[in-house]
Amino acid sequence: MKLRFAPSPTGYLHVGGARTALYNWLLARRSGGSFILRIEDTDISRSTEDAIEAIIEDMRWLGLDWDEGPEVGGDHWPYRQTGRAPLYLSAARRLLEEGKAYRCFCLPEELAERRERAADEGRSPMYDKRCRGIPADEAKNMEREGKPFALRFMVPEGETVVSDLIRGEVTFGNAEIEDFVLLRSDGSPTYNLAVVVDDLDMQVSHVVRGDDHLPNTPKQILLYRALGAEEPAFAHLPMIVGQDGKPLSKRHGDVAVGRFRDMGFLPEAMINFLALLGWSLDDSTTLIDRETLIANFSLERVSSKPAVWDSDKLLWMNAQYIMALGEDELALEVAPFLVAEGLMDAEDAVARDKLLRAAPLIRERIKVLADAVPLLGFLFGEVGIAEEARELLQGDDNVKILKETGKRLLELETFDAAAIEGTLRAMAEELGTKPRKAFQPIRVAVAGSKVSPPLFESMEILGREKCMQRIARALEAGS
Ligand code: GLU
Repeated sequence: MKLRFAPSPTGYLHVGGARTALYNWLLARRSGGSFILRIEDTDISRSTEDAIEAIIEDMRWLGLDWDEGPEVGGDHWPYRQTGRAPLYLSAARRLLEEGKAYRCFCLPEELAERRERAADEGRSPMYDKRCRGIPADEAKNMEREGKPFALRFMVPEGETVVSDLIRGEVTFGNAEIEDFVLLRSDGSPTYNLAVVVDDLDMQVSHVVRGDDHLPNTPKQILLYRALGAEEPAFAHLPMIVGQDGKPLSKRHGDVAVGRFRDMGFLPEAMINFLALLGWSLDDSTTLIDRETLIANFSLERVSSKPAVWDSDKLLWMNAQYIMALGEDELALEVAPFLVAEGLMDAEDAVARDKLLRAAPLIRERIKVLADAVPLLGFLFGEVGIAEEARELLQGDDNVKILKETGKRLLELETFDAAAIEGTLRAMAEELGTKPRKAFQPIRVAVAGSKVSPPLFESMEILGREKCMQRIARALEAGS
């Protein structure tokens, strides 16, 4: 099997695009076939270099490697449509010479006006094929005179059947298919021409893409046949919708793959989640690793019904993957988030060691890696005392607890979690305070917040000196 992902670099990689890429990749990896990344930048005005770079970065982050394409090379270089113009032109020329395409001299304003009139009169806005009637010699003369023209495909009569691997047979009456443009008047190819020429040239065996492309498929099938070729197999993936049933878009929240990376989703969790948007292993398993996906993915189990995006499920899934990380893996994943907030210096060995010790404390408390920043920040830098926690530093009882805590911490022989816990529990008992209550002001003093990782372990990691400073600071803040 030879598959491809063919994004148009007009913006960031949408999660829907990532799912398409993933399904193609899984099919290639499962079958031992190959996977091509091809940049479809025929729409020059909307394509950008930044978008190409971002797509490549996101694909790499997701671990979707390609066998042919940008940065990798291959026999069909370049894997960018702007560099492949001669191929499109020669296919177009062939179709023209064989009478399967014709020059259309209608000007854009004329076409727009006719479309409007058709709409007013309740007729189809399709091109009325008027330039089909221009005799070939005359059309050639008009070209010689320098009249601008587009090249249109001459849609034959009959019907075109798309044998879709997910939806079964979908039949299109050719009368409903417009004589679509192959080359614009500036000579640039349209998507339908370029995609067919490329898929043929690259010997793509299966075209797997979003079902928004289904209306293009009969046009492409007609083109393959006009070029004397057989079409590849097609599979159109169900749409991804939000909880309201509408196509997933920014209105529903984040949809850019890069945003999920920035928030601290793990690529493995994203892959697992995206795989289940339209496909299932059986009807119950939700946590499925990459190897299992590769071993089991098939189009037979892809549904034709829209897949519903569920952010809560994604968060839950990410938390599961975080819990499954080893301690040093978790520390490695969390570090960039602390660095980005200026709380940690990536080169500082002491900080790295601290993070290694602190990471296990939060493993079960975070859903995304960025959650680690508010939880661990106090171990790395000076953080303020949260407004709503300040009252826990005030009042005679709390002040007494803090002063006594300071004294006891100073007296400890070894400053470790067990010793700290022992002395503070004894203190609570002597003061006649419930331990939970006694520990509240200490937590606020040390961590600056009512919520923190386990207190005694945190204090051990923070070290005696820092703990003493924080208690002194809290006493000042509370007085
Ligand atoms: N470039 C098209 C898009 O980004 C995909 C075309 C295809 O997969 O055939 O929507």
